[in-house]
This record gives sequence, C-alpha cells and structure tokens, in this order.
Amino acid sequence: MADISLQNVSKSFGAVDVIKDISLEVEQGEFVVFLGPSGSGKSTLLRMIAGLESIDRGKLLIGGKECQDIAPGQRNVAMVFQNYALYPHMTVRDNMAFGLRNIGMKEKDIEARVADAGRILEMDALLDRRPSQLSGGQRQRVAIGRAIVKEPAAFLFDEPLSNLDAALRVRTRVELAQLHQRIAATMIYVTHDQTEAMTLADRIVILNDCRIEQIGTPMEVYTYPASRFVAGFVGSPG
Ligand code: ADP
Ligand code: MG
Repeated sequence: MADISLQNVSKSFGAVDVIKDISLEVEQGEFVVFLGPSGSGKSTLLRMIAGLESIDRGKLLIGGKECQDIAPGQRNVAMVFQNYALYPHMTVRDNMAFGLRNIGMKEKDIEARVADAGRILEMDALLDRRPSQLSGGQRQRVAIGRAIVKEPAAFLFDEPLSNLDAALRVRTRVELAQLHQRIAATMIYVTHDQTEAMTLADRIVILNDCRIEQIGTPMEVYTYPASRFVAGFVGSPG
C-alpha cells in the first residue's frame, strides 16, 4: 500500500490554476523529490499533503486514510521549513519538545524522544543552547529534530538547504541522505536544485507549470527525459 497517494488532485488560487490534475503514489520509506522551477507548484503540493492548503478536486490518502477532513496536526506528517521557524527564546530541547507538549505527551516520553533525536542528529551537547548560539547548519538540524521527535509517517521538506552556504549545503545534504537510511522514513523533498534531486531521490517528480512532466528514478529522467523541458532541466545530453 502506498504511504501517500494523490489522486487527480487540483487546486486554484482564485482564477489561477496552481495544481493541475496531479496523481502520484509514494511508497513507505521512499525518498521522493519534487523538482521544478520557481512557481511550478512544488510548495503548494507539499503544503496540501501537510494539510496547510486545501484541495479543490481529487483525493489525498495518507496511510490509506482519506485526509480532506484530517487537521494538519493529526496527519502524522512533519514539515521542515526552509527558514527553520525556531522559537528564539527557547532552548534546542524546548524547541524540539514544543510540538509534543502541545499534544499533551508525558514529560518522560518527551524527554526520551528528544534524547533520541539529539543522538540521531549528533546534537546531544547542544540541547541547552538557544538558536542564537547555533550555526545555520545546526539550526537546520534542530528544525529536523522537531520533525523527528514526532515519529511521523512522512517527513516533508521545503527547500531545507537553500539558506545554507555552498559547503554546508553539501554537508547537510549528505547528512540528510544518512538520516533517511538510518530511520527509513518516507520523505518528500522539494527543491529547484538538480544536484540535490539527483543525489537524494529514489524517484524524482518533475513539475512544470503546475503539472507532472515526468516521474522516474534519477537515472531514468536523466537518460530518458520525457520532454524537452525535462532534458533541459536535468541537463541530459543531446
Ligand atoms: P514553487 O514552490 O514551485 O515555487 P508555489 O507552489 O509556491 O511554487 O507556487 C505555485 C504558483 O501558485 C505560483 O504561481 C504562485 O505565485 C502561486 N501561489 C502560491 N501560493 C499562493 C497564494 N497563497 N495565493 C495566490 N497564489 C499563490
Ligand atoms: Mg516553493
């Protein structure tokens, strides 16, 4: 059974169509990248899965359950934003614990989950710092930690590396790939960066003008681009 299933999903903002009849199945444990130019609908599609945007037509299923009426907090997915969205006045520990306290989890369980996330991200030593005492890369890891503690069915990333400098971007990309291997969770990752898509994805979904141009492994979309647009965008030869 697919972990996340989109069936003929469409959306418009006013008179403007931003998602046009998209269908897609994401399998449990898969790393799927939405790749496309700015304005192609990547973030909107991700936000629909997270429950932060409504769906006009079509169906979304997560873990086999239809989602239209499931609130964002109840969907068992965790979104990691590009601007981190950390609380500046809280420690790393409290930033990670915040969402769990909100749903009324016991402090003992929260502590265990935060400790686990700290270990997974190799941040044990930084749990009592505040965001202002961290580097950009470390802040991004806290944002990922906040998702990990929820133990979600799926992680949703919206251009998580775009605020990092080039060297740190590469390092964090490698860490993300390792994280995916370690926790074997479903991940959907939005980017306009071909290299990120090629190196991270099990499958790439190429979006253009709010439609899917092609779905395939990095090798497939590179070797057999379905359109001129795909060939140009992923830099296929000829
Ligand atoms: P991407 O993430 O690929 O850059 P987006 O999903 O952010 O693309 O945007 C897709 C299209 O939808 C763009 O044309 C954008 O201007 C439009 N759009 C996104 N959010 C809104 C909104 N809240 N209201 C109106 N138009 C929007
Ligand atoms: Mg976007």
